[in-house]
Amino acid sequence: MNKLSIRDLEMSGKRVFIRVDFNVPMDGAKIEDDTRIRETLPTLRLAIDRGARLVLASHLGRPKGKIDLKYSLAPVAARLSELLGRPVAFAGDCVGADAEAKSKALRDGEVLLLENVRFHPQEEANDPEFSRRLAQLCDQLFVCDAFGSSHRAHASVVGITKFVRQAAAGLLMEKELTYLGKAVSNPDRPFVAILGGAKVSDKIEVVQNLMKLADAMLIGGAMAYTFLKSQGLPVGKSLVENDKLDLARNLLEEARRRKFRFVLPVDHVLAESPDSASTRVTDIAQTPENLMGLDIGPKTIALFNQEIAAARTLVWNGPVGMFEKPAFAQGTLAIARAVAAASAAGATSIVGGGDSVAAVERSGLASKISHISTGGGASLEFLAGKKLPGIEALTNKSESRKEI
Ligand code: AMP
Repeated sequence: MNKLSIRDLEMSGKRVFIRVDFNVPMDGAKIEDDTRIRETLPTLRLAIDRGARLVLASHLGRPKGKIDLKYSLAPVAARLSELLGRPVAFAGDCVGADAEAKSKALRDGEVLLLENVRFHPQEEANDPEFSRRLAQLCDQLFVCDAFGSSHRAHASVVGITKFVRQAAAGLLMEKELTYLGKAVSNPDRPFVAILGGAKVSDKIEVVQNLMKLADAMLIGGAMAYTFLKSQGLPVGKSLVENDKLDLARNLLEEARRRKFRFVLPVDHVLAESPDSASTRVTDIAQTPENLMGLDIGPKTIALFNQEIAAARTLVWNGPVGMFEKPAFAQGTLAIARAVAAASAAGATSIVGGGDSVAAVERSGLASKISHISTGGGASLEFLAGKKLPGIEALTNKSESRKEI
């Protein structure tokens, strides 16, 4: 990683502004799942152990630039305090006199959490003055541990870095950059990408970029049907993006020209609708007109399993079927098992995107995966070869310190 890490910072006695991702699911004032808070603990403990004074900021939900206490981070401060086993102060506004006074009152190892940065419209506008006011709360040291927000040029992710001396990656961010960075720059081969989900249009750039980097691509989920239909195969009532057929055809032609292994489903599980009780399995070529494909079939699972078992690097994003419905979850769960088994045999596996992460968690296999990416959208942009503004803004190791 060519970016500065929190481990490179001299933080003792200094106020460090740490942008975390505490965007947890809430039920009223109750936190439904505190995974995101727990995931930041190694970064926070490192800063505490090094005698830093921690000023934490995050967004929660989409309050659209207005104060809406439904999206207050106050319950998160209470939970964080339990998890850290130490008090966590809370400032009811992320900028202004109260936040400044509370940040200045911090002693070494103490923690302050600021209220939701998205209560201000200037956050998403990446407003320079707002960024400067955020930076005033620290001693020119910034750490970003919110990989899931790093594809957004927002003030607490990007703008603030212009007003600090050093902007470093937190441990979570560093792990993302290490795993995703290696996959796109120097993967162990064979490198097999597995893509699923609803739409081709969401993942075109990922498909295009991974075709340059990987050795094979396995496509499942609804997005497979646009590719299948572009080859003149029958798809019945399956979800197809008709305006993307030419693009799908061109991608497949390019793959053929370059001898890139683009593996599409050969059979599938069909039903009249996602809610239908009766299902049927057919080869793709035998798809009846009145049914829709909602999961990959056993032959496809076997085909995908073979590719996965031979891989040394695996990147998986998106379910290969309508995984929310148990009748159409088998394919996705089989992929989760195959990816876990390949990882146990020494492959590096990276799983991203809410549904695929849920599938490995549901099958109890999460601990076998080398890296579960915390940012669905951000990891897709990374795999698409885009530069993420929140990462670009971090200080390069070679610069190490800049004058401001
Ligand atoms: P995405 O957000 O693009 O990763 O898409 C995830 C969604 O794709 C999930 O809600 C799945 O239910 C849906 N999906 C996957 N396969 C199919 C399919 N064959 N037909 C309809 N929806 C699907």
